[in-house]
Amino acid sequence: MNFINLNAQYKIIEEKVNKNILSVFQSGAFIGGSFVAELEEKLAAYTGSKHCISCASGTDAIILSLMAGGIKAGDEVITTPFTFIASAEVISLIGAVPVFVDIEEGSYNIDANKIKAAITEKTKAIVAVSLFGQCADMDAINAVADEHGLLVIEDAAQSFGAEYKGRKSCALSKLGTTSFYPSKPLGAYGDGGAVFTDDDELDRLLRILKNHGQSGRYVHEYIGMNSRLDAVQAAILLTKFELFDDELKKREEAAALYAELLGDLDISLPTINKDRKSVYAQYSVRVKDRDGFAKRMKDEGIPTAIHYPIPLNKQKVYSKYSSTKMPVAEKVSSEIISLPFSPYISKDEQKQVAQAAAKSLISS
Ligand SMILES: *Cc1c(COP(=O)(O)O)cnc(C)c1O
Repeated sequence: MNFINLNAQYKIIEEKVNKNILSVFQSGAFIGGSFVAELEEKLAAYTGSKHCISCASGTDAIILSLMAGGIKAGDEVITTPFTFIASAEVISLIGAVPVFVDIEEGSYNIDANKIKAAITEKTKAIVAVSLFGQCADMDAINAVADEHGLLVIEDAAQSFGAEYKGRKSCALSKLGTTSFYPSKPLGAYGDGGAVFTDDDELDRLLRILKNHGQSGRYVHEYIGMNSRLDAVQAAILLTKFELFDDELKKREEAAALYAELLGDLDISLPTINKDRKSVYAQYSVRVKDRDGFAKRMKDEGIPTAIHYPIPLNKQKVYSKYSSTKMPVAEKVSSEIISLPFSPYISKDEQKQVAQAAAKSLISS
């Protein structure tokens, strides 16, 4: 059994994706060009954002957003300790200071009620992460931010397509960023990312910053970077995007079946807030004796993954935060485990996972 079945998807789109890739090779436009423009237009419309600015990765999308938002060295940026390192790494990379705020026990996203206490005179922005496919409580986060004049970036690397109060992830704050890393809900066959915004000035700035700060050919107005999306990846993404809504339905169905199959076991299932629709970037549950459980699942032939075993405040690279207590994130990190999941997981495979889980729990 695969942890994520990307091959099943390729089989469906094989002919069309091969044809699109070939047409990029024949066009001679390898960076930018019509496929990239078409993708940006479609994704902007899909999320309900005025602008989509493609770039080289989800990590770059956050860096570019921080730069466009005027975040500078020494500024404090609030974020969650329970995420992939990229969300905080980019803050450090531009010389700003990540300030961790603990998560909610239900959604695993930053706890908006705890943000206010972390705000100082130096705080300039909040990077909220919509983890495992479920949006953070963006209205509550925007409300605190507005009170203090802070920029809000939604790191929607795992939540492209998710809904929050009827609106789409990526369009829930001043800036939204996503990733097209292959295993993300909308994944390319390589790296890619995008920023979303309604703000014309930020759109202009982001396009300049992602292309060496050039406001015109060889006219450099800012210090920028090389972060453009390859035409091949755009052509692949356009093909995959045609399947996307159907895949989201399949993800919901598979999540519902897991909930049914695992419902009676001593496992904490994902809790999705009533005002939200998750895209289940991961199907992550919580169990006691997680490491023992993972080992027994492996013995049963079931691959699992741990997103994420160490909260960022306990990472070596952030040792200066080691005395910072993030009780919820620390507890969740010790219990979380992701089960095999993709739009193409079969019912039989899910039953196999559930049977193995029942066995792996009993022997604990
Ligand atoms: C994957 C991911 C990123 C980084 O995206 P890349 O495209 O791999 O650079 C950032 N934040 C979160 C929460 C992610 O899961």
